[in-house]
Amino acid sequence: MYYFDNAASSKVLENSAKAALEVMTKYFANPSSLHSFGLKSEKILNSCRRTIAEILSRDETEIIFTSGATESINLAILGTAKKNKQKKTIITSSVEHTSTNQCLKFLEDQNYNIIKINPVNHNFSSESFVDAITTDCFLVSVMHVNNENGLILPVEDIAKKVKNKDKNIVVHVDAAQSFMKLPIDLTNIDLLSVSGHKIGAPAGIGSLFVKKQVKISPIFFGAEQENNLRPGTQATPLVKAFEAAISYISQNKESFLKHYNSLKQTLISKVQNIKNIHFNFNENSVPYIVNLSLVNIKSQIVLQYLEEKGFIVSSGAAFLEINKIKPY
Ligand code: PLP
Repeated sequence: MYYFDNAASSKVLENSAKAALEVMTKYFANPSSLHSFGLKSEKILNSCRRTIAEILSRDETEIIFTSGATESINLAILGTAKKNKQKKTIITSSVEHTSTNQCLKFLEDQNYNIIKINPVNHNFSSESFVDAITTDCFLVSVMHVNNENGLILPVEDIAKKVKNKDKNIVVHVDAAQSFMKLPIDLTNIDLLSVSGHKIGAPAGIGSLFVKKQVKISPIFFGAEQENNLRPGTQATPLVKAFEAAISYISQNKESFLKHYNSLKQTLISKVQNIKNIHFNFNENSVPYIVNLSLVNIKSQIVLQYLEEKGFIVSSGAAFLEINKIKPY
């Protein structure tokens, strides 16, 4: 069988699984404990923090561990809203992941004003985000790469232009589908959500980058872990597994990208002559997410057919209906 649903979740890399097992069996102490076992666990957290900080060219004190991108996004959006209670407007794109959409829906139900920017000719213009800014806006939250069609959103440019207009607006980027795959400059980005299981670490680990100058409030309550922003004993084995996956990808990034590009080109060349096939991506899409549709054929039928032939693919995000994506 050939597994092609890595945007939903990827197989855990061998070095990542081994790293988790080693920590589970040898370095199991609570990282907040003051004995030598606890200090060893804390070192594991700090090492991974440094690794992520290096990748992002930021400081390790700005890295918060979470259970995944969904939790990071919740903390970013709700934590920023809680800190900026006097303002009520948030700007986002119309193609966000359910985790962002549901968080924003929760706020909308509490009389927040959520402005959703649409793409123009299948691409997003940074100016449309800036044009939507009002004096009541405190947050712009936008994804870097769309999980269904691989479209890259111009997040760095959006962030720069938003900050030029109002430097107090917090900019959050959902990088679940771009972390370790696309470079990102955080100069104007305040918060960045990433996930482990999209890059070969187990599910259950993620991170939120919180720029030093940016203040957000915790949304859970407990002890003082993770800069007082994410209480609860950290999942040290998963953190170690996350670091192992990051290190592996760092060392093999070029060959991964070459592989993705070659798979995409092969697929296009093999299917382009099929009648009524639509390629739902453009020159602004990543090579590792490919979205196709066959006019008048239900995606469930295509999915079953391909599975019989040995190919595991997806008919849209695990929690989204495919009809939300319009063929280009
Ligand atoms: N954001 C995007 C763009 C995603 O693709 C996903 C996962 O599908 C998430 C957020 C949520 O990530 P996690 O599964 O780590 O909570």
